[in-house]
Amino acid sequence: QDIATENIAFLIRQVFDFLHPMASKQRVCFSLVKEESAEVQLRVDGSQIQQVLVNLLMNSVQAMPEGGKVYVNLSNVQGPGKQNAQSGSAKMMKIRIVDEGGGIRKDDLEHIFTPFFTTKTIGTGTGLGLSIAHGIVEEHGGWIDVESNVQNGACFSVYLPMKD
Ligand code: ADP
Ligand code: MG
Repeated sequence: QDIATENIAFLIRQVFDFLHPMASKQRVCFSLVKEESAEVQLRVDGSQIQQVLVNLLMNSVQAMPEGGKVYVNLSNVQGPGKQNAQSGSAKMMKIRIVDEGGGIRKDDLEHIFTPFFTTKTIGTGTGLGLSIAHGIVEEHGGWIDVESNVQNGACFSVYLPMKD
């Protein structure tokens, strides 16, 4: 890990730019909304966190073959950090990624972080994206939550500890 102080909003915008050619071909657009009071500096391995974002955003794009929007929301929340899981009082960065795709079937939800689990046709998915993302986020002392209502799209939340 190459840990440095990074601006998460900046890292996300770079990932938007990187994915723009792929997304625009499919008429998918990205938008970033930062909660007004949210602090965005955190100690992370920037390229690993960008890998997490690429994996999540590519899934959203692939879930919207007819186009649509992906919203990324940034806020700070209180949650159980790695060091103080008992006290539950660590300040966390919450990165919420919401898309307008087909969502995830209830039966699939418990399998999506398993390596090589994919519902995509052979050649389009390796089934590794979420398992890699999960591993990176856990190494940073955070976690990933998922909610999905089929028809309403998928919503992933990445929680990362803020620097203390
Ligand atoms: P892959 O994208 O190669 O299939 P991933 O690990 O990235 O592998 O994702 C695993 C599975 O989780 C996908 O095949 C898909 O069924 C589901 N999934 C992940 N993200 C989304 C999303 N945003 N919308 C719908 N399904 C998703
Ligand atoms: Mg994927």
